[in-house]
Amino acid sequence: QAKEKGRNTYQMFIKEMEVRALARQSMEQELHCALEQNKFVLHYQPKVNLETGLITGVEALIRIRESDNQLVYPEHFISIAEDCGLILPVGRWVLREACRQAQEWLHAGFDIGQIAVNVSAREFHSQDFLAGVISVLNETGLDPRRLELEITESGLMKDTEQLMAILHGLKKLGVRIAIDDFGTGYSSLSYLARFPLDTLKIDQSFVHNLDDASRDTENAIISAVIAMSESLKHRVVAEGIETKQQLGFLKSKNCTEGQGYYFSRPVAAEDFTALMAASF
Ligand code: C2E
Ligand code: MG
Ligand code: MG
Ligand code: MG
Repeated sequence: QAKEKGRNTYQMFIKEMEVRALARQSMEQELHCALEQNKFVLHYQPKVNLETGLITGVEALIRIRESDNQLVYPEHFISIAEDCGLILPVGRWVLREACRQAQEWLHAGFDIGQIAVNVSAREFHSQDFLAGVISVLNETGLDPRRLELEITESGLMKDTEQLMAILHGLKKLGVRIAIDDFGTGYSSLSYLARFPLDTLKIDQSFVHNLDDASRDTENAIISAVIAMSESLKHRVVAEGIETKQQLGFLKSKNCTEGQGYYFSRPVAAEDFTALMAASF
């Protein structure tokens, strides 16, 4: 009986592994196809000054647009793209398209502040990352000071000379560097303080949990991150602001910038243009 049950569990496990491997395989094919057929699109979400509500920046977020117009979100494909190496061509496409769009907005007279692009650890650590950034900036003509790269703590966990060289190379160009999802990684503060960073983005989990009973912890974490960025002279951006209460709390803590559905969801480029036109 027990043996029978064990065998069934084992077979179910194998089955699940097979299903998962197949799903990954078909997503990998989907990614190849998306690259060849130009099925990637960027949506844009504003970063705003919490005091004035004015746009201080814009984050580019990738999606796949299926032939039936359905969108596939990055949680379904970024980690697969990282595993199979396709993140390199995908990341290059994102950077080029985001810089091109930013330049278009600037030429049209919109002050977008900075355009922020998410970069995976795998991309960041690739041999020609810095050269790639330089060539995209040259190609698009975007002022490097208009570009901000968002990287998670795990992307900075390799304390090598190469990593420092990339960070300082970007810094020298004038490109800004932000830590995304700050507070969810395991990096020590002394470690992070050694990097030439510009912005800390407080992870949305802390902002969302402000509504819970566990509020005191989030309250303390957010206050600590804001105090730390003040003393390190970093900008601080709170992610995932959805309610007036969350906004009020963050303002009371002197958090200066934020992003979230409360202000705007990520939207297509045309809609972002309309948003900027309306906020004049
Ligand atoms: P992220 O960079 O931390 O981006 C924030 C995510 O939270 C986005 O999800 C955004 O749509 C969502 N968000 C913004 N405001 C709110 C809010 O008020 N409430 C809630 N619940 N969510 C909010 P999205 O677009 O699905 O992206 C998820 C993650 O995928 C990103 O997290 C980023 O890590 C990754 N990603 C997105 N685009 C790219 C890309 O071009 N390259 C790479 N390497 N990663 C990307
Ligand atoms: Mg981000
Ligand atoms: Mg984030
Ligand atoms: Mg994230």
